[in-house]
Amino acid sequence: MSVRIVIDSLDFVRNAGERHGKIPISEFKRLHSLLFDHGGELSFYVAGQYDENERPGLYLEIQGNMQLNCQRCLDKLSYHVDIQTFLLLAKNETELSQHDDDDISDAILAAPELDIVSLIEDEVMLDLSISVRHPDNECSMHSPAPNKNHLIDQAKNKHPFAALASLKKQIEPKE
Ligand SMILES: [Zn+2]
Repeated sequence: MSVRIVIDSLDFVRNAGERHGKIPISEFKRLHSLLFDHGGELSFYVAGQYDENERPGLYLEIQGNMQLNCQRCLDKLSYHVDIQTFLLLAKNETELSQHDDDDISDAILAAPELDIVSLIEDEVMLDLSISVRHPDNECSMHSPAPNKNHLIDQAKNKHPFAALASLKKQIEPKE
């Protein structure tokens, strides 16, 4: 059974509408190929609002944890979604391209049947497009570039006295 949340977008703004809820991550079909497992859910809040120039839009908040595949080592990667955004509602394609030109605000096409689940999925996809992989020091596929410290460590290990010291330790009888 799939979750469907549909609003008449401009009407929603006129009525200062508000919706909130939780959507199982398994509902986001387009995310499936990125997921390590389909568990968990995302909570959302959407409100119809006007911006400072009296233009209608949707304020959207999305939060939750997802288990993704690291794009480098393919192992599990816990990802925390925390999105707050305001999307202007364009009345038609012309208005939409105008909004896209001023890149201060994001815009979507106003629809009498706007699918909120799909909108949330869009925003999460955008959020993920930056880079889904472990930080260098946590990724199993990352081989650190040789740096100064690394060389010093190696030198230390090869130091004859260091080797002697560890040998002495082994020979010393345990008490
Ligand atoms: Zn990784």
